Amino acid sequence: IKPIVAIVGRPNVGKSTLFNRIVGERISIVEDKPSITRDRIYGDAEWLGRPFILVDTGGIELDTENTIKEQMRYQAEIAIDEAEVILFVVDVRTGLTNMDRDVANFLRQSNKPVILAVNKAENYKQAEMDKYDFYELGFGEPYLISAQHGQQTGDLLDQVIDHF
Ligand code: GDP
Ligand code: MG
Repeated sequence: IKPIVAIVGRPNVGKSTLFNRIVGERISIVEDKPSITRDRIYGDAEWLGRPFILVDTGGIELDTENTIKEQMRYQAEIAIDEAEVILFVVDVRTGLTNMDRDVANFLRQSNKPVILAVNKAENYKQAEMDKYDFYELGFGEPYLISAQHGQQTGDLLDQVIDHF
């Protein structure tokens, strides 16, 4: 059985971009499921010969009448229930928000390993300074990445497979 890695975070931080980068480039998609075309949520992935299933929880939604906070709680619960490792994504350009704190509070209720990915860090020097704000979330070292350009995503995956 392959371990499951769940991507969690408030809307717009780059979860789907990270998902596509990891599943699309590093990795072989085992089956093409025509029913899930535009928004793929589960993907077969592999890093350094270690296979895993990646989940973009942002694509898993309750009914539309639920608030964003309720959606995020639901997504965090799925991650906590299913995943071996959780990738918590935040955005260094907007900085730390109350929605990030909400997600952190939901995730704290689990004993699953949480890796904090600070995305949109193309401006690496600026991001190196700004990343310290994210220690407040309580998940240790924040990892700077650019999901869009692929910077540091390999280092992030090194951390992920360490937990298998
Ligand atoms: P999601 O809502 O968390 O799934 O976020 P998306 O993956 O849909 O990305 C939200 C927006 O952020 C889009 O406009 C992306 O192009 C942009 N984005 C995602 N990753 C990066 C990144 O690494 N750098 C920059 N500058 N923009 C990014
Ligand atoms: Mg998305």
